[in-house]
Amino acid sequence: MTLTVLNPATEEPIAELEQAGVEEADAAVSRAKEAYPAWRAVAPADRARLLRRLAVLVEEHGEELAGIESRNVGKPISGARGEVGMVSQVFHFYAGAIDKHYGDTIPVAGGVAATFREPLGVVGLIVPWNFPLNIASWKLGPALACGNTVVLKPAELTPLSATRLADLVLEAGIPEGVVNVLVGKGSVVGQRLVEHPDVAKIGFTGSTEVGRLVMQGAAGTIKRVTLELGGKSANVVFSDADLEKAAASAPYAVFDNAGQDCCARSRILVERSAYDRFLGLLVEATKGVKVGDPADESTEMGPLISAAHREQVASFVEDDPLYRGDVPAGAGFWYPCTLVEATNDDRIAREEVFGPVAAVIPFEDEADAIRIANDTPYGLSGSIWTRDGARALRVSRALETGVLSINANTSVRVQTPFGGFKQSGFGRELGMQALDGYSEVKSVFVATEG
Ligand code: NAD
Repeated sequence: MTLTVLNPATEEPIAELEQAGVEEADAAVSRAKEAYPAWRAVAPADRARLLRRLAVLVEEHGEELAGIESRNVGKPISGARGEVGMVSQVFHFYAGAIDKHYGDTIPVAGGVAATFREPLGVVGLIVPWNFPLNIASWKLGPALACGNTVVLKPAELTPLSATRLADLVLEAGIPEGVVNVLVGKGSVVGQRLVEHPDVAKIGFTGSTEVGRLVMQGAAGTIKRVTLELGGKSANVVFSDADLEKAAASAPYAVFDNAGQDCCARSRILVERSAYDRFLGLLVEATKGVKVGDPADESTEMGPLISAAHREQVASFVEDDPLYRGDVPAGAGFWYPCTLVEATNDDRIAREEVFGPVAAVIPFEDEADAIRIANDTPYGLSGSIWTRDGARALRVSRALETGVLSINANTSVRVQTPFGGFKQSGFGRELGMQALDGYSEVKSVFVATEG
């Protein structure tokens, strides 16, 4: 069956691809299994050289890859360039990390004990449509560095950058069969990877709902899983913060990638004593977000990914929000920047909207801020804005979330671990920690006495 891929900004088809079924999924796993012994035997320094070549090829093809991502996801081209830049950085980082991820020697009675890091085998990497190439690289980098072979399954809506990356992988000299890209339905080929007896681990990023299915499916073969799931992060603004700076940044923490961001700080919590002033500044800043053609260099927000997703996002917003922006006329799955005053019990504050919609919620004091921020099943990201350093640290320790920024709204860096608390998942990507998720620790004892 063929898959028609659309440009969400024009609703026009941009590619037709053959979709894999269970048989092709099995064949991809077989290829990866066959390639595994030789790949695992490649000396770490040689694996590093190959990953570095891939990093350079991604850089050299940066404009092409950013263009693919922008057309396929509807991302502003400037943002897509930044994402592709990070992909290259990720491969450079794990090339450099390969020979620095080693075991220990441990003092024990009767001999010497040592630990070794061993690859897992074939790993299945399942990624979503919001940051297709970026998130694929977060998994590919550490998986390949550790000596695993992979089957990468991009989301049905956005397979184009992964298939292009597969060409660059071969061009870099990484042997055939080490990286296999499988384009097909999650419920068919994704599920097959999850249940396949020859797949040792699933690195999954996607919704909490599908994350649950992955965990269930993996139980049959006791597969390892890393789950990077949904979020409903809080942007906590205390009245002693630099309110201008916090308000200028807050819209981009929700409306970047049209709100289709697991780290979106879609609950903006504001201390009551600064609430009215902050709200005024926030509305002004939101008016400044440039929505339009993703190919335009100055565009800051593009359309949503699909018509069905737009319908889902719209279902969260009642008729009279605090603020609703404009969108271009004509084709495209546009949805305006929207601000809604809410309480933390409202549906808009409890569920992941995954669109450009922010819930603004007042709080009374520090304890109330912590209570509201933690009153969610999710725990992925968040921010704290205050000029009080002790408070910043106190509150950051109290928040149940995997990634936090103080006086900033950023979440992701190549060097730092990224992942969730609670129903936002478990396991960590990026940084040295990601290598732990793509390797096993083996203890070996050597008897030296008697
Ligand atoms: P999704 O869960 O619908 O799909 C994710 C991937 O899983 C896709 O490749 C899909 O084909 C596949 N899939 C679907 N059903 C499957 C099944 N039964 N078995 C195996 N695989 C299956 O998510 P989405 O709509 O593509 O992405 C949006 C979601 O991803 C949001 O909830 C967002 O928060 C989350 N996300 C999380 C992170 C993070 O790092 N925590 C990052 C980006 C996105």
